[in-house]
Amino acid sequence: MTVSRSTRQRDVISRLLEEAPGPLAVGDIHERARAELPRLGIATVYRTLKLLTEQRRIHPVLLDGETLYEATGKGHHHHFSCTRCGKVFTLHTCPVALPSGTVYPGGFIVEAHEVTLYGQCPTCAEGQGV
Ligand SMILES: [Zn+2]
Ligand SMILES: [Zn+2]
Repeated sequence: MTVSRSTRQRDVISRLLEEAPGPLAVGDIHERARAELPRLGIATVYRTLKLLTEQRRIHPVLLDGETLYEATGKGHHHHFSCTRCGKVFTLHTCPVALPSGTVYPGGFIVEAHEVTLYGQCPTCAEGQGV
């Protein structure tokens, strides 16, 4: 069976986002994907990300003014941004105790929340970070 080049590009990129420990910047995606697709250009990465987003297989995450991408369907999670190495991780721990349907004074009905945690990742905390 022959797989078209663009299908392969899509599969490689969606799989690496699936396996990443957190959302990735476009430059990181490009670098990692090139391990399998050495001739992959940055324009193709952008085009593939747009397509995968349209297919809802991935979605953009805006963090500190930068657009990162992550695979969809990871459930309720938060992001942990390492202040030393700059890597972003996905944490399935929720620091917010906020039952859905909570109503704040004034009549604000809470439906969702977004929290980004900052600190040191395990590698940096061990003193091995770059
Ligand atoms: Zn770190
Ligand atoms: Zn939460």
